[in-house]
Amino acid sequence: MTTDPAAAVPERAADSGRPTPFRQFIVKVHGRCNLACTYCYLYEGPDSGWRDRPAATPAAVLDATAARIAEHATRHALRDLALVLHGGEPLLAGAGTLAAFVARVREHVPAGSQVHATVQTNATLLTPERLAVLADGGIRVGISLDGGTAAHNRRRVDHAGRPSWPAAARGARLVAERFPASYAGVLTVVDPTLDPVETYESLLTLRPPALDLLLPHGNWSAPPPHQSGARHGDWLCAVFDRWWDAGRREVRVRLFEECLALLLGLPAATEALGIAPFGAVVVETDGSIEQVDSLKSAYPGAARTGLDVFGNTFDEALRHPGVAARQAGAESLAEQCRACPLLRVCGGGHYAHRYRAGHGFQNPSVYCADLQRFIRHVAARLAAAAVPGPSSPRGGAA
Ligand code: SF4
Repeated sequence: MTTDPAAAVPERAADSGRPTPFRQFIVKVHGRCNLACTYCYLYEGPDSGWRDRPAATPAAVLDATAARIAEHATRHALRDLALVLHGGEPLLAGAGTLAAFVARVREHVPAGSQVHATVQTNATLLTPERLAVLADGGIRVGISLDGGTAAHNRRRVDHAGRPSWPAAARGARLVAERFPASYAGVLTVVDPTLDPVETYESLLTLRPPALDLLLPHGNWSAPPPHQSGARHGDWLCAVFDRWWDAGRREVRVRLFEECLALLLGLPAATEALGIAPFGAVVVETDGSIEQVDSLKSAYPGAARTGLDVFGNTFDEALRHPGVAARQAGAESLAEQCRACPLLRVCGGGHYAHRYRAGHGFQNPSVYCADLQRFIRHVAARLAAAAVPGPSSPRGGAA
């Protein structure tokens, strides 16, 4: 149940056109974590709904979820869909359970539907045996880390306060060295107190094929930590310059590539930028169908839809006003965003970052200044590369 009535979405958002089907299914295969990161918005944030849900996802929930995903893929003739095995820490469910679930989804979807499966893990439980099971099951491995050194990961501790880095580093190296084809990449939340270039270069030592840089969750009523001026934007600009000036693509950085694509007028599917319809949905360990976890950083119950995989289709979730608002493009944005010259690239930023208690989500991002700084910087670098001049070290696009 929503605790903030002002968070209700304007009616017109739900009425604007046919919904875009979900293409990313985030399934909570385990509801607890073996770590207790000090900043975790899931377990330390305002929404404590996880306490009332099963720790291990029952087999009946996984079966019903597989059937619902297949039903959605069939109804919308989905050719490609992403299946993200999430938690908590998903490997607590056992690698065999994950492989069996993915196999079940693949069995059920119609011929011609490709299921791209990834497990998003803290890497501490990765062993050669588990990685072999995941690789055999066609499941790639995404790793969440705060950087590539022990110091960067000091807030990622276990329940006894012990550092997770030794086990996480061992797991990350194991994937890079022995299972490179299974390595999906590393996801890192920006910490502007860390040196940007040093953090980026330390992550490169883990040899990820892709890097996701996410802004920490926060909103106008609960501002992100260390936010002054456009500190996060400056951090991103510094990493962008290091990446752009490398002369070769050392790693795919999704945020940078999507920003460049949007600046060039190309389509880009991202939760952080742009105004393309957002197409991800979550299934919790009790079978509840929810919106993405990041909304839980706004207020308790913000992600709830009141639907579940036993009694409801994903099409019903598409009609939920909160989901519809995220598919309504510019129409659901704040007036300030609709008038903004950066609208097509920024798109108002991440939905969760727009929240203000008493006003809902129809606000610019709490990171508006950071986004402006970053997007204008990338645009300037792109323009300089397109028209090589004496001050351009590159003279060509990435
Ligand atoms: S969040 Fe700020 S930069 Fe982004 S579209 Fe809105 S006003 Fe423009």
